[in-house]
Amino acid sequence: MKKTTLLIHFLCLGLASCLYFGEANAQNAYFFPKGEKLNPAIPTPEQFLGYPIGKHHTRYDQIISYFKELDRVSDRITSEIFGMSIEYRPQIVLKITSPANHARIEEIRKANLARSTQNTGDDMPMIMQINANVHGNEPSGGEAAIMAAYYLAASESEETLNWLNNMVILLDPIQNPDGRDRFVNWANMHKGTPFVSDPLDREHNEVWPGGRMNHYWFDPNRDWFLGIHPESRNRMKLFHQWRPYVFTDHHEMGTNSSFYFDPGMPSSNNWLIPKNLAENMHIRFAKYFEKGMNDIGSMYFTKEVFDKLYPGYGSSYANFYGGMGLLFEQASSRGHLQETTTIPITFEFTIRNQLAMALASIRATLGEKTELIKHRRAFFKTALENARKSPTKAYIFGDSQDENRTNAFANMLLMHEIEYYEVENDVNLDGKKFEKGKSFIVPTEQTNYVMVQSVFETNTKFMDSVFYDASAWSLVHAFGMPHTEVKTPLTKGKQVAAPKVKMPAMVEKSNYAYLIDWADYYAPKALYHLTNGGAIVQTSFKPFSTLVGGKERKYGYGTLVVPVQQQKISADSLFSLMQKVSKAAMLDVQTIGTGYNVAGIDLGSGNVRTVKKPEVLMVVGAGVSAYEAGEVWHLLDERVGMPVTKIEMATLPRANLSKYNTIIMVSAGGAFLGGGYNAIDEGIKNRLKSWLTSGGTLITFKSATEWAIKQGFTKEKLKEDKKEESKDKKDDKKELKISRLDFDKAQPTEGAKGINGSIFEMDLDITHPIGFGYTNRKIAVFKNSTTMLEPSANPYNTIGQYTANPLISGYISKENLKKLGSNTAAILVSSEGAGRIIMFADNPNFRGTWYGTNKLFLNALFLGSLISVPNVDAGEEVND
Ligand SMILES: [Zn+2]
Repeated sequence: MKKTTLLIHFLCLGLASCLYFGEANAQNAYFFPKGEKLNPAIPTPEQFLGYPIGKHHTRYDQIISYFKELDRVSDRITSEIFGMSIEYRPQIVLKITSPANHARIEEIRKANLARSTQNTGDDMPMIMQINANVHGNEPSGGEAAIMAAYYLAASESEETLNWLNNMVILLDPIQNPDGRDRFVNWANMHKGTPFVSDPLDREHNEVWPGGRMNHYWFDPNRDWFLGIHPESRNRMKLFHQWRPYVFTDHHEMGTNSSFYFDPGMPSSNNWLIPKNLAENMHIRFAKYFEKGMNDIGSMYFTKEVFDKLYPGYGSSYANFYGGMGLLFEQASSRGHLQETTTIPITFEFTIRNQLAMALASIRATLGEKTELIKHRRAFFKTALENARKSPTKAYIFGDSQDENRTNAFANMLLMHEIEYYEVENDVNLDGKKFEKGKSFIVPTEQTNYVMVQSVFETNTKFMDSVFYDASAWSLVHAFGMPHTEVKTPLTKGKQVAAPKVKMPAMVEKSNYAYLIDWADYYAPKALYHLTNGGAIVQTSFKPFSTLVGGKERKYGYGTLVVPVQQQKISADSLFSLMQKVSKAAMLDVQTIGTGYNVAGIDLGSGNVRTVKKPEVLMVVGAGVSAYEAGEVWHLLDERVGMPVTKIEMATLPRANLSKYNTIIMVSAGGAFLGGGYNAIDEGIKNRLKSWLTSGGTLITFKSATEWAIKQGFTKEKLKEDKKEESKDKKDDKKELKISRLDFDKAQPTEGAKGINGSIFEMDLDITHPIGFGYTNRKIAVFKNSTTMLEPSANPYNTIGQYTANPLISGYISKENLKKLGSNTAAILVSSEGAGRIIMFADNPNFRGTWYGTNKLFLNALFLGSLISVPNVDAGEEVND
């Protein structure tokens, strides 16, 4: 491609009129207004790429090359690489403005930040940002970004010059480069000549998991609030550097839809955002979009769907900083040409709509400059006033037993530019102790109070009952972070300005044993690396206290015990391994010289058991929830550093199951996922059952738990709805009472029955291996399914149970809440022959953010094989 490109440039420079001139003009006429003057010195995308936009999907590296070329040839454009994706694709942003503004760009940036809270800088240029392709398989936005960049570099129209003089336009063409390339290669490699419009053609049907998600199969359009992945963290940094007033997010939806622009559903705007945004700003902007679409004859809709409740969408994050997030959804051609219920939709058509809306957004941003500046100033002013009125003066948080989890939470606050401080002295409040050096204080009186509320507050009152996504995201609960509201002024220590990383103490060499506290978030990482390095590691099934430096120190359930002599490796090798692991897992290792403990069991007790290194198989492929599988993969890769073999359901018949001691099955099924585990045939099912009963550990989530129960892997039961039976049971033919509802009520009525994502309280047996490392029985769990389990007949097998009044935050129907609070089990363990099945009703790894429940899953993975289920009949353990 590079050679062709150079050749085209040579020809363009060498001849008075470029060879591609005619074709480029034809394409420009389709995309841009009639009579547009476009500077011929700027290469059109077609001249540069060798094909007209819309006739092929543009690879990400080609976009980077074209943007660098625009930077080179145009004095209106500079490009900046602001990060790198997981698969090492550079993240690029274009800064587009007049040459004069480029000369003072830093001054403009600073003035823009200052004008949020000061009455200065009204005459300075406006800042807005165009963003596309956060979902990799929604490519029209990305191609439109190419056309927009070209247009802004080449257009000589009065309007464009006015934009450039009065605005700085930031353009991030592809927010998810890894997913985008996956999709683009799929569409291009299946493209026919001529195009094949049949919706069943392979071109229009990607294989699992598709290009929507990032490398780890996460939805990057939920990660703005969470910042789990580097792509989003880099974008958040860029966002805060510039704080654009308007932030567009260009998406795609079903092929038979039309086009969506804001305003969205009036009932589902976030309660923390001033009404002016939905009731004034969105209405003003919609006028520009209306005209833009009418001018090209495209159909569209507004108001019916899409919420802005959750702060983690690209189209909502800016709202929490007094800006305006804009969502665009284009019906997808998903491929180059596809039949619809009207005429076939072309890729070009989808690109043109997106381009029209990108340009209309620029027009609107400048047109509504005064209103935007006013809105943001009022936003921050109101936030401060509300903070002053709030009885909560600050939040204090910290888990002194788990500095790594505490730091992860605190560092996330920094990403949102939330101001917080060290605590000056130990604080005892609401029966909780917050230790100096391991706790932090977040004053409510700060400009980013709205974000503080989003992180710490809960909500259980909603105007609507149908949600596009989760209705709860209180991060303090996701992290399981001990915290409390402070109602009286507290002296604060130093402000935290940089991410905190725990520096473990130097490991001292031992000739007897080492101890590692299992309460630390990264203890499973240490365990994996120790066993992988050849060390024999044990775990304590009972707590104990030992003398450390003459002082008694308590060690809880699950403490790792590493004896020095009972090893296959030398004491020196073990010591050097221990040093490496302590550094890698950022945790302290305690050197112990005696096995005699001052309280509780001794180190040589039968209650200190040897851990087996997990050899893990995760079932993946069509039908399986790629999100949940990706979350497991990400957790094990990034936070534990251990490999997990991902095996396609279709490949399972070839797998030698005895190679693995642990099998993970995340949710699957439902119409959307294509039937889930039903694809596993009887033969495989029987092999799985015999693998289980001969000693395997099977871990299931949500619908996989339902599947395992229905397939007879265990005798545990699902909680069924109590059906209204006719009074006379014998009279089967008696008519059931059927209520009648209007057709129009179907969506809200049925939607309200689901649990889309809310936070509930669970009572956890912290003396059970699945609960090891937890110190509080009451923990918060995220639930986004209706999977509910009957408590086990064996009193020791219900490890987790929702509390009687379990709702912490989010929406749930009264019926579901009642059912959940009536002794419903959340985690069951059942012994099956020599093996065991660990059943979760929920997903403990949700969006890589639930640091608070990750350990439940990691306990299942690392300690599952040690679970012995007390047999209540015989009064003895059946599996040891
Ligand atoms: Zn999307």
